[in-house]
Amino acid sequence: MTSNKERLIVIALGGNAFLRKGQKGYAWEQWNNVKNAMKQIADIIEKGYRVVLTHGNGPQVGNILEWMEALKDRLPPLTMDIANAMTQGWIGYMIQQALHNELKKRGINKTVVTIVNQVLVDKDDPAFENPTKYVGPYYDEETAKKLMKEKNWVIKLDPRGGWRRVVPSPNPIDNIEKEAIKKLLKDGFIVIASGGGGIPVVRENGEIKGVEAVIDKDLASEKVATLLSADYFVSLTDVEGVYINFKKPDQKLLRDLTVDEAEKLYNEGHFPPGSMGPKVLAAIRFVKNGGKAAFIGHLEKAKDVIEGKTGTKIHS
Ligand code: ADP
Ligand code: MG
Repeated sequence: MTSNKERLIVIALGGNAFLRKGQKGYAWEQWNNVKNAMKQIADIIEKGYRVVLTHGNGPQVGNILEWMEALKDRLPPLTMDIANAMTQGWIGYMIQQALHNELKKRGINKTVVTIVNQVLVDKDDPAFENPTKYVGPYYDEETAKKLMKEKNWVIKLDPRGGWRRVVPSPNPIDNIEKEAIKKLLKDGFIVIASGGGGIPVVRENGEIKGVEAVIDKDLASEKVATLLSADYFVSLTDVEGVYINFKKPDQKLLRDLTVDEAEKLYNEGHFPPGSMGPKVLAAIRFVKNGGKAAFIGHLEKAKDVIEGKTGTKIHS
């Protein structure tokens, strides 16, 4: 029998680990959220699991793009792949410090390290022909039209109001630094990887280079979990788990699904793109790729989620 000591969990942290709905994004708000989230993660580490953390970056990368836009006459704006790399450092740093302190309090001396992590996508991915992911600031129609010409951006009317840049969301196919992650884990480090879905890169003429795209963080996290042959893959978010008929009077929390059941519901359209859809898809992929089980649940109940006491478990 394998003990917990050897079991590897990849945990994907949702946006609420850093910013709650209604918060503005002050540093102290982010610190409070991260510190709370790391109590949950420390509970899991205390049980003896080896842990890799991944995380989203929607609001943070959005801020950086807004700063670039607001200051564009003083400082040349940078590109989206660089903005993503910045958020990996920003969020990775906060997790490293908060988790270090929380573990220390519990008498656990482990080093937490963040890697600047590139994720390979296919340059011929159909997503490049059909951008879907809204990013950055909202523009009025006139500015939007100007930017589309000047920068060759695709800008569309966001259903949330206002014109906004849309970028492709290609499928992750490999993790460039996977061998480094494996080595760090083997040496006992807690690793933060694939932040914000990873920095998207394509391979061209024998080189890799960054692209203006956003990889879905849940799908990129599954890739990490599968490449590391993790035992479990956990998505921690701001709802109890996966529901059918979500937000309708007859909504029902699904506690336990086989991968076939999950796939059927996914194909029936119960889980919208951009929120629960990619989480369920990532869970399905993980189990099909040989993972023992995937869990989706509330960040504040992380330990109970992996013990199957709450949330949704998807297995073969
Ligand atoms: P994260 O930052 O954790 O990735 P998301 O907002 O992307 O969070 O996804 C979680 C959200 O998915 C929930 O807050 C919920 O409103 C939404 N959601 C949509 N459909 C469902 C569903 N069928 N079951 C559960 N949550 C759903
Ligand atoms: Mg999400």
